[in-house]
Amino acid sequence: MSYHTGAAVTARHTLASPLLAALDIGGTKIAGGLVDTEGTLLHQVQLPTPALGSSRDLMGTVDSILDLLAQHPRWASVRAVGIGSAGPVDTEVGSVSPVNIPAWRGFPLRSEVAAHPAVKDLPVVLGGDAVAMTAAEHWRGAARPYRNVLCLVVSTGVGAGLVIDGRLHTGPSGNAGHLGHISIDFAGRPCPCGSRGCLEGIASGTAIARNAAERGWRPVEGDVSATAVASAARAGDPLALHAFDRAARALAAGIAATATLVEIEAAVIGGGVAQAGDVLFAPLRTHFATYATLPFTAGTVLVPARLGTDAGLVGAAALARPALALLSGPTAH
Ligand SMILES: [Zn+2]
Repeated sequence: MSYHTGAAVTARHTLASPLLAALDIGGTKIAGGLVDTEGTLLHQVQLPTPALGSSRDLMGTVDSILDLLAQHPRWASVRAVGIGSAGPVDTEVGSVSPVNIPAWRGFPLRSEVAAHPAVKDLPVVLGGDAVAMTAAEHWRGAARPYRNVLCLVVSTGVGAGLVIDGRLHTGPSGNAGHLGHISIDFAGRPCPCGSRGCLEGIASGTAIARNAAERGWRPVEGDVSATAVASAARAGDPLALHAFDRAARALAAGIAATATLVEIEAAVIGGGVAQAGDVLFAPLRTHFATYATLPFTAGTVLVPARLGTDAGLVGAAALARPALALLSGPTAH
């Protein structure tokens, strides 16, 4: 096939411009997408995670997602595959052990994805979902203006990732920035991770809902989720407000500790709980001022995440971007 007009040349350029494939592996859904080099999500598919299925059932779902992506007319432009997975992950060996996917313990996800016929010969990059979200926010979202930034996902759990000196800081096994499991209450409640007083146990959506229920909050319509607690807080319910204040205080302490340890200019907060808006951010900023007292921490800005539900796939693609640069050679930007 050849092109002779300017418009057709443009079309050819578009067809030939490289793409990144993305996989977002979570406890409730497995999503796949195609992302261009500007970080735009062009196409996405998803299937429910067979969370209680066998290891093979789970991989079968991942393979189905890859089959669906490979049917896209632009699949041939895919140059690398990025995977963001619920953690913990081990990026050194390429395995995952997601807490909420019990059948996968040390599962070699990277090599299994690489073995899919449509993926063959493409570089495959694996990272944790919170690190992927961090990469997404730093590429296209609220973290973009900052060279040193902490990004948090506050939802069922609390995940986080770090950008230091303008680069994603993943740590040797890909788990750096695991803020949900730092202890902010040294004599606090035991955590499923084995420690106690972990940030996640106070600030996650699960913890907010539990805290409200323990203090006697009862929903009007039977919805006991953190979203319902947020609605009640917005309407002025004191028990709901207390649950959010407590979570915000825990997050403030954790972010201030991070700012003290590594110096950050900003913390970007996303995830379902952050959707509560001022119900979370107002007490968060107030409490942060009481913990971030040193001159180099006091100026840390607290901002909402910007990418919303796209962050998982855009972030998985962002993880694969370095592989794309390597393939393009040293002149690529
Ligand atoms: Zn813990």
